[in-house]
Amino acid sequence: MCKVISVSNNKGGVAKTTTTCNLGVGLARSGKRVLIIDTDPQGNLTCCMGIREPDELDYTIADAMARIINEEFIDPHEGIIPCEEGVDLMPGNIELSGLESSLISVTIGRESILKDFVDMLRDDYDYILIDCMPSLGLLTVNAMMAADSLLIPMEAEYLSAKGLNNLLKTVTRIRRLNADLTIDGILLTKVSGRTNYEREIREKLDEGYAKNIRIFTSSIPRSVRASEQSALGISIYRHDPRGKIAAAYQSLTEEVLAS
Ligand code: ADP
Ligand code: MG
Repeated sequence: MCKVISVSNNKGGVAKTTTTCNLGVGLARSGKRVLIIDTDPQGNLTCCMGIREPDELDYTIADAMARIINEEFIDPHEGIIPCEEGVDLMPGNIELSGLESSLISVTIGRESILKDFVDMLRDDYDYILIDCMPSLGLLTVNAMMAADSLLIPMEAEYLSAKGLNNLLKTVTRIRRLNADLTIDGILLTKVSGRTNYEREIREKLDEGYAKNIRIFTSSIPRSVRASEQSALGISIYRHDPRGKIAAAYQSLTEEVLAS
């Protein structure tokens, strides 16, 4: 059984991409077959996986989605890049920006183009992770429609009630079409060393607008190692295998495997 997880938050800089990369590699290291999909026109995940110039790629998720829109033949494996660290990557780049605009004129099923693509690959993978762009536009809606569940990274320092409310409202709307969509949980990221502060944030979430949503026990500390990693195009397991970020993502991986 394949599980499709969309890593979403309409706020940027909360470690969606870093989490998709490290959770993906973590799951692959546990022996799972993993595909990660970059649906952000900025192509950050694609860069993170070591591809220097995403915009020069011939074929990306944007091309696959365009073929589905145009009802052309599609081989879902075309364009998938096997990465050294054991995950497969369906890259994304600036072409996604044009693709998102052209989705607007699709009259029927524009929310489920990515789902059509992902469903063709369910037999080949145990986990498919979708890295979202920081918005609640049609590409993010497509990611949520394709997903079984959401993982919501949130920067502990900037608990944004409004941002989270908008995200949760979108989830409610998506459930009209994708009734089984669940929320795996909120992942606190970039947490600085103050444990009391983290506890406060957890309590606020529990009491407030995120009650009934699980908050992962694992949280990701703030560390320069994480920002170095994306620039180098390798996962944290390779960049700093014995550091606290690798340990935190390993612990998240175990929580995801257990859920
Ligand atoms: P998003 O995809 O949500 O926009 P990114 O994963 O690209 O977020 O992370 C935003 C920035 O923060 C990047 O420069 C990244 O390297 C950095 N970053 C990610 N996780 C951490 C962390 N745990 N500690 C410090 N910096 C981090
Ligand atoms: Mg990103």
